[in-house]
Amino acid sequence: MDADVVIVGAGVIGLACAAASVSKGFTTILVEQHNSFGQETSSRNSEVIHSGIYYLPGSWKARLCVRGNRMMYAECARLGVWHRRCGKLIVAVAEDEEPELQKLYERGHENGVEGLELLTKEQAQRIEPYIYCQAALHVPSTGIVDSHELMKAYATEAVQHDATIVYGVQFIGAARHATGYAVRLREVSGDETKIETRTIVNAAGLYADQVAASFGIDINTAGYRLYPNRGHYFRVSATKSRLVSRLIYPIPPRNKEGLGIHVTVDRAGQCKLGPDTEYIDSSIPASEWYRFDESRKERFHQAASRYFPAIELDDLSPDQVGVRPKLQQPGGNILDFIIQEEEARGLPGLINLIGIESPGLTCAPAIAQEVVRLMAAQ
Ligand SMILES: Cc1cc2nc3c(=O)[nH]c(=O)nc-3n(C[C@H](O)[C@H](O)[C@H](O)COP(=O)(O)OP(=O)(O)OC[C@H]3O[C@@H](n4cnc5c(N)ncnc54)[C@H](O)[C@@H]3O)c2cc1C
Repeated sequence: MDADVVIVGAGVIGLACAAASVSKGFTTILVEQHNSFGQETSSRNSEVIHSGIYYLPGSWKARLCVRGNRMMYAECARLGVWHRRCGKLIVAVAEDEEPELQKLYERGHENGVEGLELLTKEQAQRIEPYIYCQAALHVPSTGIVDSHELMKAYATEAVQHDATIVYGVQFIGAARHATGYAVRLREVSGDETKIETRTIVNAAGLYADQVAASFGIDINTAGYRLYPNRGHYFRVSATKSRLVSRLIYPIPPRNKEGLGIHVTVDRAGQCKLGPDTEYIDSSIPASEWYRFDESRKERFHQAASRYFPAIELDDLSPDQVGVRPKLQQPGGNILDFIIQEEEARGLPGLINLIGIESPGLTCAPAIAQEVVRLMAAQ
């Protein structure tokens, strides 16, 4: 055997898994198709350490987010990664939105989120004087993290404990044999190499369904098909960015595709608005997914100025586009992460991580803990 485990994908999930796996003594190889880590979803998100308030009680998302939130603050402190527990307000702008705040408060309690507080208009405006609302929910455990620093710290820790990270190689398939798998990798030159491993962790993000399909899994009947969904961000001018000190979220929209256009703050105090949601038509090639569409500016301004009235159209400038690996089909219900060891499909030692959309960044240390538990049970 060349390794106990081959991990496919060096986003935050694959990197957290590599660091956790090698620390438990598993010989670990992480393979990534790009020339560096975090070139896809993990570097194009809101960098929010979510609390776990939104998710269905008992789901992976709820359990791993609440656990991941606590673990993330501890990991950041241990690894010296920049972060800030800034807290967040979810705001009800109209009176008929107030019952939604109560529902979120109750769901948060059920999920084990600590410190939640329902605020009156006056209480909310005392802590965020430039935010307009009728009532708000204060979520003090929400924070922000420098996701690039986090990924770098996981990569460094993994390598220091003797994991091997190979960039510029694409996983193209694996053949099952009596003791594990022969993994086929394609280098940039087109040359192919094989490595032998006992376990494979599929952390391929937007392509995790395709990696699963390469093992012969029917992704439609298994419910593993991914529907890429993009979100734009606009940057807010420095003058207006200074007017808020926490993250500000509206009541989540009824289409259940995202959390609504919200205000996030980064380590430099720069605010961003976003992300919106749009399913990407399958005819659009991946090379076009990240093209910025400036025509959305007015829609963003309208959405944010409901609760942040000081924002003017000219305060917004294009920032970035991120793409969510959604299991939820257009118009469908919200679905949970898939974290599945595939022995029941005749593929022992294959661990599929599929549909790791938000709050995947927050959940990364907790997902890695689950993956190592599944590996140890082999
Ligand atoms: C707009 C947006 C906002 C978000 N905001 C937040 C937030 O605020 N907080 C939060 O907790 N979460 C957030 N998320 C979710 C979070 O970003 C993701 O859950 C997380 O980054 C997923 O990480 P990953 O490692 O699974 O995927 P990725 O970062 O996509 O990594 C997968 C890697 O696998 C590689 N790969 C794929 N196929 C192969 C192959 N065949 N061979 C080799 N390598 C391969 C890819 O190149 C890629 O590097 C957001 C997501 C989006 C899109």
